Amino acid sequence: MSDYTIKVVEGKYKLSGDFHTIEPNKPILDTAGKLCGITNPRNMVYTHSYGGEAPFFAGITKGRLIATRCDNKDCKDSYESVFLPFRIHCPDCLERTTEVDITDIANKSARVYTFMVCERSGAFNTLEKPIRFVNIEFEGVTTILMSYLLGKQEPKIGMKVRPIFRTKSPTYTITDLAFVPAETAEKDLPAGFTFSK
Ligand SMILES: [Zn+2]
Repeated sequence: MSDYTIKVVEGKYKLSGDFHTIEPNKPILDTAGKLCGITNPRNMVYTHSYGGEAPFFAGITKGRLIATRCDNKDCKDSYESVFLPFRIHCPDCLERTTEVDITDIANKSARVYTFMVCERSGAFNTLEKPIRFVNIEFEGVTTILMSYLLGKQEPKIGMKVRPIFRTKSPTYTITDLAFVPAETAEKDLPAGFTFSK
């Protein structure tokens, strides 16, 4: 395992330690034992800055859903529009948006707009397969949020759902947010997940 630390000093990342680790390689032999090649295992630690979107990711680890709103009165197309996915700037007037907590609205009004079931995934997938990707609409929110459905029920268009949050041992990634059918009881939630706090 890599041994490293990252500190934030005056708004900048200060990296120290090992971010690239070489592991022992292995020969690739054919059935007669002839050398054909080698494996080259390498471990890399990626750093990913959340920048202006950090409040959204911090929110889901605490069981809250943070969206943004354009508060620019001169914005012709999007004044008072609420955005989730979290947009740092309004796409129409380019002004900085205002953070708004829409957790209560999501609890009451979240519905499946459409969905997609994926039997296969890419490398490093951590979600249970088949993955039931759901596009969620919320009352009063201009945009549609992509997430995934947990629980036994299959997704349906128009289905009422509720957000759940991996608050117990968060990964600090988007997979800390998922949805379950609205009638799900707290005791039936997947391990590590809770309703909003
Ligand atoms: Zn705007």
